[in-house]
Amino acid sequence: MAKIAFIGLGIMGMPMAVNLVRAGYEVTGYNRSPEKTARFAEQGGAAADSVEEAVRDAEIVITMLPDSPDVEAVAGDVLTAHGALWIDMSTIAPSTAKNVAAQAKEAGLRALDAPVSGGEQGAVDGTLSIMVGGEAADVAAASPVLEVVGRTIVHVGPTGAGQTVKAANQLIVAGTIGLVAEALTLLDAQGVDLKPAVEVLSGGLAGSAVLERKSANMLRHEFPPGFRIDLHHKDLGIALGTARESGVPLPLGAVVAQLVAAARVQGHGDLDHSALLLVLEQLAGRGPTTS
Ligand code: NAD
Repeated sequence: MAKIAFIGLGIMGMPMAVNLVRAGYEVTGYNRSPEKTARFAEQGGAAADSVEEAVRDAEIVITMLPDSPDVEAVAGDVLTAHGALWIDMSTIAPSTAKNVAAQAKEAGLRALDAPVSGGEQGAVDGTLSIMVGGEAADVAAASPVLEVVGRTIVHVGPTGAGQTVKAANQLIVAGTIGLVAEALTLLDAQGVDLKPAVEVLSGGLAGSAVLERKSANMLRHEFPPGFRIDLHHKDLGIALGTARESGVPLPLGAVVAQLVAAARVQGHGDLDHSALLLVLEQLAGRGPTTS
């Protein structure tokens, strides 16, 4: 089995790396904050003190980092793993994915962009959806590893295509949360009982995974992450930036990006993205903080 280096042992990376260990892979992990690397070692992984040490002898390098600058920051050290297959599973800009893949090729590595959807639970359960960009032969080589951490794995096109599909995913999710939040605010203002309203809405064309999985917390006004507002703010920046590069207007996406930005400014950055409801309620002069 291929030797794996895993860089970035956060909410998503830790359970993914642990699942690879449980599947029998030899995995060397590194995280910038050493206590996470130590926690990984307690769960059967090998601990490294630097990216360079982690990728030494690795045949596959997986990165699961917050944002484009984080991936760019480790790229130099990852590229010392000559001959390796680098699978970047972070959500970053498609343009950055293309840049680092070109650098990787020049340094004698192969690279895939393979961002994920499915959240922390999907990472723990090994059921993530993975959208993969890159060459078919490299996707085939990565498949046994991707199948450990994910259930729906789709090769969506050349380098960068995985990140572009992920940007579209984040656009749809944010827009849907925004409209569910507006609908709940309207229903509440009209004195409609929200629970049965959600039940019947879920059964029709308005039904969605967002309504199904996020509405219970929205009704309770509890927003533990989940997927943090801060990360969705980053992802909408990626979607709007990519749209600008492509000459494509995203009018609805632009509005929802501003609402997410407002949620962040209001101090909700560490809450689940369903906390967008608080912004919509505030605009309507409603919600738990208003009388
Ligand atoms: P996180 O912040 O919990 O984890 C990122 C980890 O990377 C942290 O532990 C951090 O210390 C580490 N790190 C940062 N810079 C580093 C460096 N230079 N070297 C080594 N380690 C470094 O974030 P997360 O929730 O695990 O998300 C990771 C990526 O996955 C993000 O791009 C996010 O958008 C995406 N994602 C997250 C979710 C989710 O539900 N949390 C779902 C799908 C996709």
